[in-house]
Amino acid sequence: MSRKPVLHFTTQKECKAAVRAEVDPYRETDEIFEAPVTKQLLAKRHHACVKHGLVPMRFCWGIHPIFNTRDCFLANFNDVRFPQLDWRKISWNKALIGWRLTDATLDGEIKAVLRRHILPHILAYRDVHDYCEYPGCLSLVQDIDHINPQFDDIACTAIAMLTQLERASMINSYSWIDDCPLQIPARVLDYMDEQHSTVVRLQALCKFHHIMATRMRHEPT
Ligand SMILES: [Zn+2]
Repeated sequence: MSRKPVLHFTTQKECKAAVRAEVDPYRETDEIFEAPVTKQLLAKRHHACVKHGLVPMRFCWGIHPIFNTRDCFLANFNDVRFPQLDWRKISWNKALIGWRLTDATLDGEIKAVLRRHILPHILAYRDVHDYCEYPGCLSLVQDIDHINPQFDDIACTAIAMLTQLERASMINSYSWIDDCPLQIPARVLDYMDEQHSTVVRLQALCKFHHIMATRMRHEPT
């Protein structure tokens, strides 16, 4: 009797390597592909798949809205119960580590939503900068960088505006199935907009100078 293949990895590292081998190698961004190990991993360990009995059927890579580079990993569920899950961003890495939304992991999720929220500001800056702003560099822009204040600092201040009750409510109402799984209070989003309309200074950089700028910031003084 033949048995269905199961995840048989003894370490996360092995599993990660197997998933990478399926999803990474030189795929075009519009190529739709099957990935049996990734499919099993998500069905068995992704928080929403386990909760709703979802099984991702096909995969592809999404495109970054600004830089046209390969950005997010998408799964197609083809599940009549959840037609909204036509193509949905999914993290196999979260499945691998057994991620759950808790008070400890909430900040990371909020930051991701805030980053998406400020995208119009980033896009507006990108629209008027074709070349890297580092003096003497003639490369094309690949990243928009927060010079001052840093994105993380603004986001942390925004997150500190949340009450414990609001945090608990966000965790309770979180539903990955929804288009907008995390309900962030409007005043927090408004604060992000206001900061980007007033004090935030951005710069357009090529990949190299963005890496250099990030490295300089993190070097101990
Ligand atoms: Zn440059």
